[in-house]
Amino acid sequence: MDFRDFGNALLGKYKEVSIIFPDHSDYEAARQLYNRMHNLYPSMIIRTLNQSALKELVHYVAINNIELAIRGGGHHIAGFGSTQGGILLDFSIYRDVGIDEENRIASVSPGARLGDVDQALCQKGYVIPTGTVSDTGIAGLTLGGGIGWLLGTYGFTCENLVGADVLLASGEIVRAEDPGHEDLLWALRGGGGNFGIVLEFRYALSKLPRVYCGTIEVLGKDIEGVLNSLIVYLGKHCPSNLVVAPVLQNLGHDRGCCLSIDFCLSGSEDHMEIIRLEEYLGLPQKHLFLTSDFVSWQSWSDERFAQPMRGYWKSVCPDAFGEEIWSSLLKWIERVPGSNCSITIEHLNPSRRLETRVDSALPIAEKNYGILFSARWLTPSDDLEYMNWVRGAVESITSSQRCSSYSNYTFEGENDDQAARVIEGGRLVQTKQKYDPSNVLRRNHNIHRDTL
Ligand SMILES: Cc1cc2nc3c(=O)[nH]c(=O)nc-3n(C[C@H](O)[C@H](O)[C@H](O)COP(=O)(O)OP(=O)(O)OC[C@H]3O[C@@H](n4cnc5c(N)ncnc54)[C@H](O)[C@@H]3O)c2cc1C
Repeated sequence: MDFRDFGNALLGKYKEVSIIFPDHSDYEAARQLYNRMHNLYPSMIIRTLNQSALKELVHYVAINNIELAIRGGGHHIAGFGSTQGGILLDFSIYRDVGIDEENRIASVSPGARLGDVDQALCQKGYVIPTGTVSDTGIAGLTLGGGIGWLLGTYGFTCENLVGADVLLASGEIVRAEDPGHEDLLWALRGGGGNFGIVLEFRYALSKLPRVYCGTIEVLGKDIEGVLNSLIVYLGKHCPSNLVVAPVLQNLGHDRGCCLSIDFCLSGSEDHMEIIRLEEYLGLPQKHLFLTSDFVSWQSWSDERFAQPMRGYWKSVCPDAFGEEIWSSLLKWIERVPGSNCSITIEHLNPSRRLETRVDSALPIAEKNYGILFSARWLTPSDDLEYMNWVRGAVESITSSQRCSSYSNYTFEGENDDQAARVIEGGRLVQTKQKYDPSNVLRRNHNIHRDTL
């Protein structure tokens, strides 16, 4: 049965199914991904949460060896939220968030964005720690990890996942929190979309803490000294309830380089820790308070990322963050090819956020730092220049030490960590073997040996 016959058969059987074929007027908009580097044309786009229809879909792609892409928010930089010629299962219109206050659990549909989750939970005094740009999908974010402003207080997003309804490649639907599926729940926490199609995510609800959010801006020649002190502060003093994200940018000829030390202090009665930080950096009274409204802070960076552009990102998670690293970052930020390039340091603070730790498949859970090199631009003819900037900057670090990388920020085939985990075998590979031995779900950072 060809795609169209299969699609039409589903439409005839299930009224909750909608399908967009390539000749439909909605197709062009529906196929687009956040990262415009990926210009992919699926053979059809299916939208449904009907379990019987989804079982038929999985059976169809499995027996015909068709690539199936699953889209949550469509933000993965590698373009995993679509496929060239395969079938796109597009969950992006399913954005419900339910709250079970008695059991303190949030049930989240697979197309929900971080903003949907914050809007629904925060007004009731709850929160799930997520990421920092509100249009990002919570599905991909969770399956790959989830780094955000409440990391120190409540951990990675995936560490808060307590259950999920999962459609397996076999066609069976299971609850990941049920006895016998501990391995599945573990793997969904940071192991990617390898193990099943998640139809609903369930998270532990946490209390929305009081927050104090803002930034410290440093320009020009002061950056080097401040960065040096900041790294010492982060390593030795930064408490778990303070998440600091220093971002290096180049503002162009007139203004030069800029370091914005964005921060979110949570669960504190006062902002003394920010004053301590300023003093440590030799920048008394330099911080700019921006908001104490967590929902606003969660979308504070939205504008910077609003326009879909071409993008290339890479991340490295070094064990040690010495002078040779930050001086290299300063060199590379001076050489940016365009204004939409940045280097963000993510402080993961593993030793001080001990109490939030949950067993997960996330390879970077024990790392001290992540460094995200991000380049965004508009014109295809500039691709190489921007990509080479990111690659050169990354190599300047990885040439002297072995680094892990964060899969949510990494292109296909460039996640050495994932590849190493597949080669080494172990728990993740065994879990893939148990739940998807034929690798039906492979449009992700795939952990199946055949894809290496
Ligand atoms: C502007 C921007 C800001 C970001 N900010 C942050 C941040 O602050 N913190 C952070 O940690 N990350 C951040 N990221 C990275 C983000 O976590 C990843 O891009 C993530 O994959 C996005 O999820 P998505 O659902 O939008 O992606 P999609 O592209 O829709 O999906 C990503 C992957 O998840 C799989 N998948 C999606 N839904 C399902 C499902 N229901 N069942 C099984 N598999 C599924 C897909 O197959 C695919 O492999 C950001 C990315 C962007 C572009």
